[in-house]
Amino acid sequence: MINEMKKEVAEYIEKHQNEIIELGNQLFTHPELGFREFKTAEIITEYRKKHNLKIDKHYAYTGLSISIGSGRPHIGVLAEMDAIPTQGHPCADPETTAAHACGHSTQGTATLAALEAVNHVIGQLKGTVTLFYTPAEEFTDLEYRKGLIREGKIKYLSGKENMLVDGLFEDVDCILHLHAMGGSEYRFSVGSTLAGFIYKKITFIGKAAHAAMMPHLGVNALNECALFLNAVAYLRETFRDEDMVRIHGIIDDGGNTVNSIPDKVVYECYVRTANYNILQTLNKQLTDTAHHCAAAIGGSCIVEDIPGYFPLIQDENLSRVVEDNILDYADARTIKHNETSVAGGDVGDICLFKPIIQYGYTGISGRIHGADMRVEDPYEVYVLQTKILAGSIIDLLQDPEKVEYIKKNFQPKMTMEDYIKYLEG
Ligand SMILES: [Zn+2]
Repeated sequence: MINEMKKEVAEYIEKHQNEIIELGNQLFTHPELGFREFKTAEIITEYRKKHNLKIDKHYAYTGLSISIGSGRPHIGVLAEMDAIPTQGHPCADPETTAAHACGHSTQGTATLAALEAVNHVIGQLKGTVTLFYTPAEEFTDLEYRKGLIREGKIKYLSGKENMLVDGLFEDVDCILHLHAMGGSEYRFSVGSTLAGFIYKKITFIGKAAHAAMMPHLGVNALNECALFLNAVAYLRETFRDEDMVRIHGIIDDGGNTVNSIPDKVVYECYVRTANYNILQTLNKQLTDTAHHCAAAIGGSCIVEDIPGYFPLIQDENLSRVVEDNILDYADARTIKHNETSVAGGDVGDICLFKPIIQYGYTGISGRIHGADMRVEDPYEVYVLQTKILAGSIIDLLQDPEKVEYIKKNFQPKMTMEDYIKYLEG
């Protein structure tokens, strides 16, 4: 329900909508890959300074947080900073092909504008709000990230993994997050789950030989890979619909020259499932299949697994707070509840330790991760989400008992020790 304070803040947001949309446009047109979000941080800093918002911390190489208020409760708000390689997107960075085809720039806008708006009434409230900008959500550009690890600039491959291990979220009571969604007949999504995944790199090894004169002396690594991909296709009929298994990859090294039998082929993929309990078994099945297929052709393979993200289970009590605020602006029939998604994100790792939600919003057109992804309705994407976030933050600060209730009913799913063990394989 809209109370006086929320009304005042919503009016402030409405009045400043051009500035908010302009911030959104700036972030959208300056896409950067994970742990390279330098210009993004600059744009955020410019806006922050203009509105006298104070920096809280710098972390995870390019990440930063901004805090308002003091004392408890302590509400966290999360915004991702990075873009994704998207060939052909009109705003793509010519060098890296990074584009905001996942819409992270839109989160970065609404969260900052919401913090700024709430800051105008923070004197009348008790508690702290911290906006965490989190780098490198997309699991991509891994060689660059491994380089940063070697240089000691980061410890792990994703932004939130680093932030969790560095204890950045330790002090917050609960965390609000949001993500753009595409292709939905609904306007909002509340309580949806995200899948877990493992990143897999398979290097098929063969033996080079002249492709026409002496193929009998070579071992064709591309054929090993082709056999493996066919075997995976045959396995697909054994996957249960409810587990929502996805195995999707690319060949990023397919041989050197057409003249020679390829002696090395690299296949990279994700193994995803909505059923986290079968992820390890499924992964082992693929490892075995790769070894058998390589051996069948006379070659071998090296399998490298990198732990991906955990599935997201959203906090129901916190979702209710956000849903109340969505309902201030939208009809209940436009909200999709408890969807099962095969997408994944490092926000899943946070739900192991803290109550968190990630609601979905629309107003974009084209395909998420596609070259045609655009912000179609800037008011819906930027202005309305700012109001919903600001309203949710105010509700939580005005009702510390609710925050206590959320905390009390939350069960951590892992210890930090086990999490670090998982990350370090
Ligand atoms: Zn995303």
